[in-house]
Amino acid sequence: MSGTVIVGAGHAGVQAAVSLRQTGYGEPIRLIGGEDCPPYHRPPLSKAMLAGEKRPEQIALRGPDFYERNGIELFPGARALALDPASKTVRLADGSLAYDKAVIATGAGARMLAGFQRDNVFVLRNMQDALSLQDALIPGANLVIVGGGFIGLEVAATARKLGLAVDVVEMQDRLLTRAIPAALSDYICRRHRAEGVRVHLGAQIERVVAEEGRIASVALSNGAALAADLVLIGVGNAPEIGLAAEAGASTAMGGILVDGAMQTTLPDVYAIGDCTAFDLPVTGSRVRLESVQNAVDQGRTVARQITGQGGSYDPVPWFWSDQFDMKLQMTGLSVSGSGFTVRGDVESGSFSLVETLGERLVAVHSVNAVADHMASRRLVGAPGRFDRSAAADPDTPLKACLAAPAGPPRRAARIAGAEP
Ligand SMILES: Cc1cc2nc3c(=O)[nH]c(=O)nc-3n(C[C@H](O)[C@H](O)[C@H](O)COP(=O)(O)OP(=O)(O)OC[C@H]3O[C@@H](n4cnc5c(N)ncnc54)[C@H](O)[C@@H]3O)c2cc1C
Repeated sequence: MSGTVIVGAGHAGVQAAVSLRQTGYGEPIRLIGGEDCPPYHRPPLSKAMLAGEKRPEQIALRGPDFYERNGIELFPGARALALDPASKTVRLADGSLAYDKAVIATGAGARMLAGFQRDNVFVLRNMQDALSLQDALIPGANLVIVGGGFIGLEVAATARKLGLAVDVVEMQDRLLTRAIPAALSDYICRRHRAEGVRVHLGAQIERVVAEEGRIASVALSNGAALAADLVLIGVGNAPEIGLAAEAGASTAMGGILVDGAMQTTLPDVYAIGDCTAFDLPVTGSRVRLESVQNAVDQGRTVARQITGQGGSYDPVPWFWSDQFDMKLQMTGLSVSGSGFTVRGDVESGSFSLVETLGERLVAVHSVNAVADHMASRRLVGAPGRFDRSAAADPDTPLKACLAAPAGPPRRAARIAGAEP
């Protein structure tokens, strides 16, 4: 038996390998690492590790001897160059690996903006990016961040803590447009400004001034000229789909198209994590998600598929982000036409925005309200009438706001995600 070859040793790939062993899979598992270092938690790259509070070895996904002990052959620093579904092989630089099942878990790469490639311009996706950026975060320096998404805002918070002057340039008229409702964007923007981050909304970059191969300043459409000792481009990611697409797999929304079993359109080839696009049962829409929850839970699902235990991927998505003293936690996905109920006191810095569509709870966006977040992971997408006016009272537990129909709760059997 050739066993399973997993390409990509991030959150998804490692979880797939771990879950395969946990479910009793006895065939060879080969995990193609991609990066030189042992597999690691990616979220700290913009938070504790970037701030110097954790060293790279402290954010490893598993201990140094874990892979060997569990019969998982890890190939750190190796890249898969091609996958051939006819011969069922994955080609590396120094040879080919045969597979019975292949799992593509190649994640995504940070987008760079045209015209910005200079020595003092950074992106942040992997360990090497984080170490390079960390070296450049010198107290007193001027950091210009292009993009007011999660990565940009987390780095802004970390950089302010380290004593840099920070400008965030966002072309939309609010922060985090794709991920959270306007009311929460406004709150986050106020918190960043209170911490000294200069946030420029609705701002286009008109011109960059470069001197000796480095960007010296950035001119905005509103006339502002931002001094720059370093620039971070935080404008999103492109899924790494090359391997699958070149082998003939179908793609959608820029990702590798998979069904609820994580199966691509190629026989015995699965895909999981940030590189995938799929139909999400809870919203009835096709999505591409970039979160640890999604990567880990898809890793578990693919292991159950390969070991013949079935089950399909039917999660309630959730995500977290840490910025200054804010622990942001989101459950569910926002939908258009929904309404919002504020739960708790916004000025106290601990509250949730409860999002409903008619009598249905569709999402909960929490700031320093961990109990609401934990409850919401069981409630979003659950059947029953949700009483939004009851939810406005923070003393009423969220679960008491859902009048569940008779019978067992549909969500109770769902797979749990990783802890933030
Ligand atoms: C700085 C940062 C902060 C984040 N913070 C949060 C957070 O707070 N909360 C949250 O939920 N999510 C967060 N995320 C998102 C989360 O980390 C990702 O959704 C998650 O890592 C996706 O896991 P993955 O395994 O699909 O991809 P990845 O973790 O990206 O792993 C993919 C791996 O595949 C490798 N690879 C690619 N191509 C090949 C190839 N051809 N051959 C071999 N290897 C290959 C890559 O080098 C990489 O190591 C953050 C992401 C970043 C970058």
